[in-house]
This record gives sequence, C-alpha cells and structure tokens, in this order.
Amino acid sequence: MKTDQKQTAKTKELILKGLGVSPGVAIGPAHVRELGEINVPEYQIPAAKVPKERERFSNAVTKALNQVGKLKAKALTFHGAAAEELGYLLDAHLQMLGSTRLIGGIERRIAEDRRNAEAAVMAEMADIAHSFEEMDDAYLRTRAQEVREVGLRIIRCLTDATLTGFSNLDPGSVIIAEDITPADTALMDPEVVGGFATVLGGAEGHTAIMARSLGLPAVLGIGGLIGAVESGDKVIVDGTRGLVIVNPSAARLAEYQKTLRALARESRALARLQKVRAVTRDGEPVSLQVNIELPRELDHAVECGAQGIGLLRTEFLYMNRRDLPSEEEQYEALTEIIRGMKGRPVTVRTLDIGGEKLATSLGDQFHEGLNPALGLRAIRLSLKEPSLLETQLTAILRAGCHGPVRILLPMISAVSEIREVRKVMDALVKRLKRRGVQIADPLPPLGVMIEVPGAALAADSLARAADFFAIGTNDLTMYTLAIDRGEERVAHLFNPLHPAVLRLIQFSVEAAFRARIPLSVCGEVAGDPQFTALLLGLGVRDLSMTANALPRVKSRVLQLDMQAAMQRARAIMDQADAGRIKALIDDFNETLH
Ligand code: PEP
Ligand code: MG
Repeated sequence: MKTDQKQTAKTKELILKGLGVSPGVAIGPAHVRELGEINVPEYQIPAAKVPKERERFSNAVTKALNQVGKLKAKALTFHGAAAEELGYLLDAHLQMLGSTRLIGGIERRIAEDRRNAEAAVMAEMADIAHSFEEMDDAYLRTRAQEVREVGLRIIRCLTDATLTGFSNLDPGSVIIAEDITPADTALMDPEVVGGFATVLGGAEGHTAIMARSLGLPAVLGIGGLIGAVESGDKVIVDGTRGLVIVNPSAARLAEYQKTLRALARESRALARLQKVRAVTRDGEPVSLQVNIELPRELDHAVECGAQGIGLLRTEFLYMNRRDLPSEEEQYEALTEIIRGMKGRPVTVRTLDIGGEKLATSLGDQFHEGLNPALGLRAIRLSLKEPSLLETQLTAILRAGCHGPVRILLPMISAVSEIREVRKVMDALVKRLKRRGVQIADPLPPLGVMIEVPGAALAADSLARAADFFAIGTNDLTMYTLAIDRGEERVAHLFNPLHPAVLRLIQFSVEAAFRARIPLSVCGEVAGDPQFTALLLGLGVRDLSMTANALPRVKSRVLQLDMQAAMQRARAIMDQADAGRIKALIDDFNETLH
C-alpha cells in the first residue's frame, strides 16, 4: 500500500486537507518521523520498585491502546482498500497490546530480570521479531515488523518524548508524524524545522499553541498523511488554509513563493508598530502582553513591543527530562526572563500539568487518571504534592527581586484553593525571611485563571480572594461545551463564540470590575484580531497572546472605536446563536480599516 501511494505521490502533486492551526507557509523536504527515533534507557531496578515499574508499563500500554484506537477511528473515515488494509493492521496492533506473548514476556522481564520497562520491551520485541523473521512463511515474516512497531509505540509512551530533538535535519525540514506532543514541539528549533503536519491533534491543543508561539506553520488532523509522504519529498505546509501539498507542481511552487514574499512584506510592515502605543481611535489604551512557554521565546516577546508577559506557562520547564527542575534552576530561568523584560511585569503561572501536557520529569508523582482533563492536574496536583508548589513558589519569590512578578494559579475552581496557596506562601515567606533570603518586596500579587465554568460562575467570591483574574478561554470553552480542545474529530465544534462561553466571560469581567481587580484574557482568542472588538466591547482592557499575534492585534486596536465596540458587544450578548454572533462580529470587523 505504502509503495503504491508513494509512486503516485512521486509522479503527481497530492493535496491533503486538515486543520490549519498555525498560519504561514513552509516549503521544504519532508522528514517523516518514524516510531523508532528514540533513545532507550537501560537500567536495573531494585526488587522493591518492581510493582511501580509494572504499573508504569501498564499505564504505557493503556496509552498505546488509546492511541491505536484513535487511529482506527480515523481510518474508518477513509474509503476503499486503504481503509480496509489499515483497519486490519491496526486491529493486529490492538490485539498485540492485549494479553499476548509480547506483553506477558515484557512483564516477566520486569519482574524476574528486574529490567526497566523500556529495556524489557526492547529485549522482548527483538526476540519475538527475530523468531518471526526465521519462519518460512512469507506472511508470518511480515509480522516481525508489526511486533517492532507495537514495541516502539509502547517505548514512546513510556518515555513520553522523542528525545531526539529534531536536530539532525536539513534546515527548513517539514516534520510529518502521526502525532506531535506539546513536549515534542518544545524541542523544535525554528532555525531547523520549517513547519509540521500530523494525523492527530486539535486546533486549541498545546501542540497547536506551541506551533503558533514558535511561528511554525502547522496543519493537524490529516487523515491520509502517513503513507502519502516519504522523507525527502518536497512538501508545502499551508498553515493558513490547512493544506499540505506533496510534490507540488512548478506552478504551485511559484504561487507559494509569491505568498512567502507577500508574508515577509506584511511582517516587515507590522514590525513598524513595535513602538506604537495600543490605543483605540477614541483614546482608550489597551495593554497587550505575550504568552510564553520557553525562555528562548523572550527575545521575540521584547521585539514585538509587549507590555509584559501575561502568561508564562512554566510546565514546559518540566518537560523532556527525567528529573524535576531544582529551585535554583527555576530561579535562574525565571530571573533571565524577568531581567529580560526590563521592568515590565511577568505573570508566572504555577505548574499546569495534566491532560495533554504531560511531563516526564514528574515521574512517580503523576500519572494520568481515567479522565485526564478532569483529574489530578494543575493546582490540584500542586496542592497534593506541596514540595512541587513550595519549590516553585520559592523560586518565583526569589526571582521577584529582579523585577515585577505576579503569581497565577491554573484550574482554580474553589476559593479554598486560593486560601491554601496563600497559607503555603505565607509560611514560605516567613521561612525565607528568617533565613535572610532576598525575596520580592512587595510580595507578588496572587491571581487565578478563570478557565473552569464553575470559577466563572463563582467569580464574585473568587474576586474577593484573588488579586487578579486571567481568563483562559481555551479551557473555559472546552469545559463549558464539553469539547476536547486537542481532538481533531470534534475540532469543528470548539467555539469560543458560543453564547454560554461569552456569558461566562462577561460574568467574570463584571465580577473583576466590581471587586476592582485587574483582569486579562490570555486564551487563544486574545491573539485573534477577529475577537478583539468583542473582547474590548465586553470590558476587557488587557490581552495576552503569542508574540507572533501581537502586531496584528495591535493594528486592530488602532482601527477600533471603543464606544462602537461596546455597542456591538451589547447587541451580541442579546443573541442566542453562535452563527448569528459570528455574523455580527464579521460585519463589525468589515467596517474597520
Ligand atoms: C487557557 O486555558 O485558555 C489557557 C490560557 O491556558 P492553557 O492554554 O495553558 O491551558
Ligand atoms: Mg488552561
């Protein structure tokens, strides 16, 4: 199947459609990420740790089953022989992940030989694959490859990262993969990687957010991607229109080269706005800040003229590693960012691990529950594992000596959670002062994310306990509408313009206003100019977004009349239908220039 498709692709241009999640165009050689690109750690485990290791292995198998199940659901949407063949193959993988010789053998190696799970998988996989390769029957010989694919999938689930860092690629390479995790994306260097495309993933997941942050054009959720592209094929990723073009024709290439030149011209024009203040036509100032994940995004944050960092997603410091970042390491990373912002405020969010954002380094302290989006994640994990929270808060308090910081708590759903954090912080402050450690003075404000519907509905009481609000529209939309933000099959239903989401935003804005505490919006809608008028019209005056989006949002603020935006927002809040709301927004935006 693969060879036939490959021949077709070689001779003919192939256009694949998916979700355009990060705008722009990348043209380059494809690098198809094989499951085998991983380093396998090998070590002996003490007898007492065997049960924990078996549990780790069993969690990885569950995760692998989940992945193959998702791929199978995707395959069902294809047509013809390819769908049938892929279906059989994935069924075989599902079967192998059940109670088979492979799984039993791995468990034995962990229990009896006391090998770490990755090494046990590697050894058992090699043994079984070898015995298939020795067979006379040609069909049975092909099963060796299947055993390897399943084994490598389990290893990837155990390691949770590629660990290769996409570093040995030709510059401008386009990564093609079944799935790319947020941790994978954090390893991509835009100097080397041009863009990427995957089979799985939704538009508001953290992989998509990271792609936008790094300015990498990306298209996710493309059904027939694997098998249609081979490493070395020329590929265009059109992240704006959601297209991947394999072996483009000469005319298509010329058309896209022209688009690239136009995009470069536009970004030069937008760069001129760096020093221009964000003020509406009727004189209302708006604060535009940036969201960052990695210290290396700092330069970009400064260059785009941000008034501060409205959201620092610290969880990325915990990814792609086997140990936890120490207090000193966190202090240094934060200090670099705070110093780099030269007096502009930095809002540091405490660890928001969970759901799709997994961190290998949390090891024993964290494993996904049955329903990761609703489980022990974010602030709940920090409060359950006080050492995580204390280390992080201490690093923030100390780094706060170098410039203004604010502390932001993710996934808050109850006032008691804020009180508990304050208690931990007060005790830490006392301890640090007693020891003569220099910390931020005055102490950083303590704010909360409004990203759980219950928090928005209880915004009045939260506003009395918190120093500021940051509305996370990504999770707020996901939890309000029960739509997984990282799932491509329901991506079309993810809609922050749903009247229920808008009411929760309005509720929170009004509560913050009554309590006279600052409020910002830091979900992805803040970086999309089509939403700017609506958010300002609802009373928001502080938006935090990826640095790449800031110039376009600023240009929109400059075109706007605040009074007109408020009037339009009032009309919008009377609507019951998301389609009508979108039409009212589009109609308003069309009048701006
Ligand atoms: C959000 O949920 O809107 C948000 C800003 O946080 P994150 O995207 O990191 O979950
Ligand atoms: Mg969130």
